[in-house]
Amino acid sequence: MTESKAERNTAVDVHGVSVGPGKRQRVSIPVARLPTETWMSLAVEVINGEFAGPRIWLNAAVHGDELNGIEIIHKVLETVDPAQLHGSILAVPIVNVFGFINQERYLPDRRDLNRCFPGSPSGSLASRMAYLLMNEIIKPCSHGIDLHTGSNHRTNLPQIRADLGDDATRRWAKAFGAPVMLNARSRSGSLRQAAAKIGKTVLLYEAGEPLRFDPHSVQCGVDGVNRAMAFLGMLPDHADREAQPTSALVEHSAWVRARRSGILRMEVGLGDRVVEKQPLAGINDVFGSRCGTVRAPFSGVVIGHTNNPLVHQGDAVLHIARAEQQSG
Ligand SMILES: [Zn+2]
Repeated sequence: MTESKAERNTAVDVHGVSVGPGKRQRVSIPVARLPTETWMSLAVEVINGEFAGPRIWLNAAVHGDELNGIEIIHKVLETVDPAQLHGSILAVPIVNVFGFINQERYLPDRRDLNRCFPGSPSGSLASRMAYLLMNEIIKPCSHGIDLHTGSNHRTNLPQIRADLGDDATRRWAKAFGAPVMLNARSRSGSLRQAAAKIGKTVLLYEAGEPLRFDPHSVQCGVDGVNRAMAFLGMLPDHADREAQPTSALVEHSAWVRARRSGILRMEVGLGDRVVEKQPLAGINDVFGSRCGTVRAPFSGVVIGHTNNPLVHQGDAVLHIARAEQQSG
């Protein structure tokens, strides 16, 4: 897209605030009061490009303790210039504001916001938040990226999870260029499923662990979001833009579980290639004697693992992806 031919953009309206072409504006959407009367609101940054183009949303912290995505959004927004942008970005760095201030995954009533989409205006607090996000942010956009981390002491290799059977989604996932893209069916009640149901192209990015900033996960995310926006023609052309990294397409993955309780000693790391039956971690008893071994169920790549040495029998210890092909 060359700027001489580019059409001028129109205004974007978010919650009654009109943001003109070439402008950025922060908008606060009230959600609900705390019991102490303080209002909680959704902080949205609208960046409306000078030129016409796609409208996308970026969101993080649907799970309130998943922080890498917040930093990814901050870093992406730092470098976006509305005077150069084609299209517009609606960014919500912290969706689950209640979970975030409590440093928890869930809402105060223990509901998982990512099982409450598309939500309802008269349901639980989670359901109302989902409804608000769907109507104010997701509906006006054509594409979106939902940023997550592992849960419960587990860390993930940077990876895209998306419906790769859908052509537009697969092309966009490839453009993002995470080390791995997992063809993953969306869960019932998830943001991803609700957005796809109303025709949005949506990617879920998973990287790192809760309550931590992981610099590698953040950088992969920033680079990926920028490539995804460039793919849609939103960013000015840069001859020096880095070559597209190859994303390994994964159709099958499995969590390996501990066969007995004990103290885990991890022997592999994220991104390591492993072969079938390879020991991946030892389980020691209370005296430090090896009493169990966690082995690879098949050959593949480590795309997630727990960082918590205390394991109970049946706990998910390592996530292995069977890498079938390189995306071409
Ligand atoms: Zn999550």
